[in-house]
Amino acid sequence: MDFISVQNVTFQYDEQGESGKNKLVLDDVSFGVKKGEFVAVLGHNGSGKSTIAKHLNAMLIPLSGKVYIDGMDTSDESLTFDIRRRVGLVLQNPDNQLVASVVEEDVAFGPENIGIPSDEIRERVDEALKAVDMYDHRLKAPYKLSGGQKQRVAIAGIIAMKPDCIVLDEPTAMLDPQGREEVLSTVLKLNKENGITIVLITHYMEEAVLAEKVYVMDSGKMLTSGTPREVFSQVELMKKHRLDVPQATELCHKLRACGVEIKELPLTEEECTAMLREVMTP
Ligand code: ADP
Repeated sequence: MDFISVQNVTFQYDEQGESGKNKLVLDDVSFGVKKGEFVAVLGHNGSGKSTIAKHLNAMLIPLSGKVYIDGMDTSDESLTFDIRRRVGLVLQNPDNQLVASVVEEDVAFGPENIGIPSDEIRERVDEALKAVDMYDHRLKAPYKLSGGQKQRVAIAGIIAMKPDCIVLDEPTAMLDPQGREEVLSTVLKLNKENGITIVLITHYMEEAVLAEKVYVMDSGKMLTSGTPREVFSQVELMKKHRLDVPQATELCHKLRACGVEIKELPLTEEECTAMLREVMTP
């Protein structure tokens, strides 16, 4: 059984303006995420990615269709508390997520709210801060941290709740390249070493390449899905929907169109370099 099961979900906001009336923000969206899996959700602004994210921890409930989290139906209000403990949501702007004036107090906020005993909170906070490599900053004021560090503290706040899954809604969109790198390597580590299921919503192709599976949204519909290699090899489809592919893939796709013999399109710079070396070696 999938840990997350999204089945034929449609959704519309009540407060959609005149122009958006009758337009489904999610239109028959289905997908599944296995326990321990790392998936990426890609798509333009406005394609419905954040709306999906909010369905995964019962902040939004489908108009029709179902979302199950480890078998729990998100439309059953008696399960909301459990679902939110199992699936943590990290948002784009770290400043909106940090509430306390000291890092470790911030991380303790979630577990305190759900009534965890104080000696266990201490343990959870230390463990969470170590997992995101922010333990040495535990007594600092959040405003003194870089964007990447703040986002890692926000992630620690979620980890301290001991979730099975973390959904990250464009967590690197407001960060500089170093901050992006820090957050991404933290996310990868949480997935590989701690077995936390990850749903990463992003518009960076280079981030999507790191996932085991990629889902591509377009105008509220699921356009395509598969491994990064399966998805990004469909260069024409992605272009038709004004979506990018990784730079390395695009370069080799163009070279192939010029007659260069490239068997399989690369996803990363390293793969691209290796492929070009092979092609150019007489
Ligand atoms: P994405 O995350 O891919 O940028 P969203 O899920 O945020 O997409 O938005 C999908 C559509 O829903 C957009 O057309 C957006 O304008 C609309 N939308 C998002 N939030 C609201 C809201 N609270 N009220 C009304 N419309 C909304």
